[in-house]
Amino acid sequence: MIIRLASNYTLSEDSAIATLLNKNGIGFSEVVTQYGHYLVAPLKGDMDIRLIGHLTEVDDVYRVSDAYKLVSRKWKLKNTSIDLGDNIVIGDGSLSIMAGPCSIESEAQIESTVKHLLDRGISIMRGGVYKPRSSPYSFRGLGMEGLKLFYKHCQDNGIKVITEVMMVEQIEEMHDYVDIFQVGARNSQNFNLLDALGKIDKAVMIKRGISGTIEELLQSAEYVFSNGNEKILLCERGIRSYEKAYRNTMDVNAIAVLKDRSHLPVIADPSHGVGVRKYVDKIAMASVMAGADGVILEVHEVPQKAFSDGAQTLSYGQASVLYEKLRQLDQLKSQFATL
Ligand code: PEP
Ligand code: MN
Repeated sequence: MIIRLASNYTLSEDSAIATLLNKNGIGFSEVVTQYGHYLVAPLKGDMDIRLIGHLTEVDDVYRVSDAYKLVSRKWKLKNTSIDLGDNIVIGDGSLSIMAGPCSIESEAQIESTVKHLLDRGISIMRGGVYKPRSSPYSFRGLGMEGLKLFYKHCQDNGIKVITEVMMVEQIEEMHDYVDIFQVGARNSQNFNLLDALGKIDKAVMIKRGISGTIEELLQSAEYVFSNGNEKILLCERGIRSYEKAYRNTMDVNAIAVLKDRSHLPVIADPSHGVGVRKYVDKIAMASVMAGADGVILEVHEVPQKAFSDGAQTLSYGQASVLYEKLRQLDQLKSQFATL
């Protein structure tokens, strides 16, 4: 169950709510976020929750039986939207498009990407500076030097930055140069990293693990929320299956399911989701129709020369056509809305 307390309330051992829960043998965790003050406790079938609900310090009480609680739709029907500032909001009903290279490679590449995004009215740029690579001999990113350049050019042009953080130790130095921290598929269940990202006031996009279930992704999000940060995006980026005709199997089902089970915004990553350039546009469109709040795409001036993930990266020309198709679909989608 989730008990939402009055937000300025200070909980103490002899608070009426603590006394009541203790008397009924219910252990609880206190969660204080940017927006709310909650107690999360196991449901006890024989307890009358009206006894909790009528206490003056309690705003509301909800029965949530899922393994994940604060990220569940069961207590919060309204979609969560994430305000990045400068009128850039994710999850408010409009389609968010994030685009950029897999890896930040040079200042010239940043400038060229920023220009492409500005031309196309896109206000969030992706790009990795710390790259998780399957081979230790592959390019592993430009690190902080690259991030500072990335952020500077974006900030000068009103563009927000999303980039991957791989270790707890990187959060502090990256903090001022990032608008959305990305947790990569390989770190989806790095609980120490999730705990630490829960303690800052920046948006966090968590990618689904390569072999992760939907419930595991939601529990990863619960780590961030329960540490105090409600600014969470969920990302479907394809899972490993037996199929070898493409890199990953984009689980479009998961988009619909995540939208149903959670109030958090869902971002689709069709670039990694299918992993083959010529299919990315179709899978991106399918993701929008499945209910994604946004799409993150890998684009590069010359995809064949990209330092990483070139085979799934769109050229500026290909990406530009896709952005327009996605925007049109998003308009059309409202006619078919089921949620
Ligand atoms: C990426 O976004 O470039 C990336 C490495 O993604 P993932 O963690 O989904 O593989
Ligand atoms: Mn990539």
